[in-house]
Amino acid sequence: MPEHVPPELAELRERVARFAEEELRPLEAGAADDEEAPENRDIRKAVAERSRRAGFFGMTQPRAFGGTEAGPLALTVAREAFAATNLRTARYAFGPGPGVLRQAEGRLRAEYLEPLMRGERYAAWGFTEPSGPEAGRPTWAVRDGDDLVINGRKAYVSGGSAADFYAVLLNVDEDASGPGGTAMVVVDRDAPGVSLGPDFRSLDGGTHCQLILHDARVPQTNIVGKVGEGMQRGLGNIGQMRLGVAARASGIAMWTADFTQKQITQPHRAGGSLSDREQVRWIFGNMLMEVYAARSVLYRTARLAEDGVDVMNEGAIAKVLTTETAGRVVDAAVQLTGGQALIEGHPLASLYREVRSLRLAEGASDLLRLNVARGLLEFQAGRV
Ligand SMILES: Cc1cc2nc3c(=O)[nH]c(=O)nc-3n(C[C@H](O)[C@H](O)[C@H](O)COP(=O)(O)OP(=O)(O)OC[C@H]3O[C@@H](n4cnc5c(N)ncnc54)[C@H](O)[C@@H]3O)c2cc1C
Repeated sequence: MPEHVPPELAELRERVARFAEEELRPLEAGAADDEEAPENRDIRKAVAERSRRAGFFGMTQPRAFGGTEAGPLALTVAREAFAATNLRTARYAFGPGPGVLRQAEGRLRAEYLEPLMRGERYAAWGFTEPSGPEAGRPTWAVRDGDDLVINGRKAYVSGGSAADFYAVLLNVDEDASGPGGTAMVVVDRDAPGVSLGPDFRSLDGGTHCQLILHDARVPQTNIVGKVGEGMQRGLGNIGQMRLGVAARASGIAMWTADFTQKQITQPHRAGGSLSDREQVRWIFGNMLMEVYAARSVLYRTARLAEDGVDVMNEGAIAKVLTTETAGRVVDAAVQLTGGQALIEGHPLASLYREVRSLRLAEGASDLLRLNVARGLLEFQAGRV
């Protein structure tokens, strides 16, 4: 095993695989590709219930909210193992994490964070601003008495139309009553001046919408922390979030290598099997090398995080390398599988779409490369 994990984590991996076979696979037939699809709602509840009983659901949730708060290494093992099952229902195995509301206190904690953790209210995240003709002044707010009045648009809010509230990154204008700066603000869906654009689907099957804020009014007590802390809060947990994406990408690459092995060793109409051909072996060997390297990076980063290191840079490196690896591995698997792989409903067809989006969601590969250079050049972070 390239990752060489202690026995209890090897056992965790086996438990995930067993749980997926026994509890998730029977639910799989009715599940749609789109995570937010209405027909998935009952499946989501059933998976959450089973996962709670099996002890996986709370791994992503702090103890203060009744979770079991697994460390980064255990979470990496579990996330990778769930992804390596390639079951759609596995996406619902973990409970919602606190995200940017992590340190919310008082009313924000009682009315938003706690119901979010219990699964009673749904949140979505509004960070990305529009580009092209819709680009304008990035979302901003002015103080008005006890309120903030917000204007702007967020371009790509996943699960936005199913959410009860949004965590929005914006700029507050400086005025006589206080300083300006970035702020993370909780905006209720039914607050005055809030509307949603039509739903749109991304290649990977996800549903998103625009969040439109036109003189939207929210109390200043909806600011998470203080004005000036917005960007820092947005990026607060980003290293570990990207580690989560990396674990998913790594699991996808593992499943794909395994699938390819079965594919190329079965009888082929040309006689023998494809694995008898040297060129096919070369492609498969290259695939295995790439998966091995990606997993090595993933687990090195997870160990650093487990030791308490802020993996802002290493998380970015792991995310870029694993997602790009998954992209190449799935692409090669499609090629070796042939036309069958491109038929709607084939597992590789869905994965092909998903791995493409992983190189943009949670940070575009190109920008993360720039961030990695900046981390070392300007902050002496992320030594090799
Ligand atoms: C499936 C999916 C789910 C998403 N969910 C959410 C969500 O819930 N909430 C949310 O807020 N956002 C979400 N996003 C948006 C995502 O965060 C952005 O797509 C991503 O950050 C890239 O930003 P962008 O699309 O505006 O592209 P841009 O920032 O315009 O970048 C496009 C490309 O331009 C180039 N580029 C841009 N800037 C630079 C630079 N400074 N130097 C060099 N090259 C550069 C790079 O090649 C980059 O890939 C989601 C995206 C996807 C695909």
